[in-house]
Amino acid sequence: MLSGGVGGARFVRGLLDAVPPADVTVVGNVGDDTEVLGLHVSPDLDSLLYTLTERHDEERGWGRRDESWNALETVRELRDDESWFQLGDRDLGLHLVRTKALRAGEPLSAVTARAAAAFGLEARLLPATDDRLRTTVQTPAGDFSLQEWFVKRRHADEVEGLLFEGAESARPAPGVLDAIAEAALVAIAPSNPYISIWPILAVPAIDAALRASAAPVVAVSPVIGGKAVKGPADRMLERLAGGTAPVHVAGCYPELIDALVIDETDAAGADALAAAGVRPHVTRTLMSDRGAARRLAEAVLEARG
Ligand code: GDP
Ligand code: CA
Repeated sequence: MLSGGVGGARFVRGLLDAVPPADVTVVGNVGDDTEVLGLHVSPDLDSLLYTLTERHDEERGWGRRDESWNALETVRELRDDESWFQLGDRDLGLHLVRTKALRAGEPLSAVTARAAAAFGLEARLLPATDDRLRTTVQTPAGDFSLQEWFVKRRHADEVEGLLFEGAESARPAPGVLDAIAEAALVAIAPSNPYISIWPILAVPAIDAALRASAAPVVAVSPVIGGKAVKGPADRMLERLAGGTAPVHVAGCYPELIDALVIDETDAAGADALAAAGVRPHVTRTLMSDRGAARRLAEAVLEARG
């Protein structure tokens, strides 16, 4: 299972309701990782950790439930220029422990595994890599780190290109290649292809292992009715792929996916998708609640053929 943050995590939660959690390995994006106030933050791994262990805030859509913001208030009081990054008090605890561990030389995958175990996560959660990999967004206004573009600038700048710094020499985290080799199915969550899935595929050995794998690869489109459910995926598809039809989404994963799960409202694009060599699987893809996420996961299991 390849996943970004919030959108991916909601899908994975549905998957864990549909299959034994112990059978699932989630490979999470680390291209969003950043240092805030001296702390190492892994937004997508944290969204997965919180959502999959029922610690997430469903209404806000990100972060932890029952969150408070006292530390951030102090940061603002002190007029620190990093106060644009929202760090909740509960969330901070994880960043503190992770940063301490990384400074002591522990790999990200090990700290993540410890947090997952402590939170009671039964599925395995692996960062794509323990090495430094950072997504840079190229825009007419200049190059920005993913968080700076997404959060500080509210993803307003058009994206002209993406760079995955460090990817070329990044090695998969321990367990990633074995999981791919042993997988009966590789699922790609309805995450943003460009900023959540591409940074995972940018690790050369992961990309090679997926291509060498005999397992079917099934992706879920993050688009419903030509629009992203949330965030900039539709604008990025328009700009970088020339449209938001299923064939454009599939084009983000060339020669990689066998099937793409698309929404009923995008069914008109199914024939073009099939003509491009990717099996369409049409269903309702809006994860309006946990049951809908489970049904979407079941559709992915069916779509493997
Ligand atoms: P992030 O890392 O927190 O930004 O989250 P992801 O990249 O994993 O997920 C963001 C993507 O999920 C967006 O492009 C949304 O369009 C998509 N998404 C969110 N909810 C749904 C849903 O219910 N159904 C589908 N098909 N896509 C969704
Ligand atoms: Ca993300």
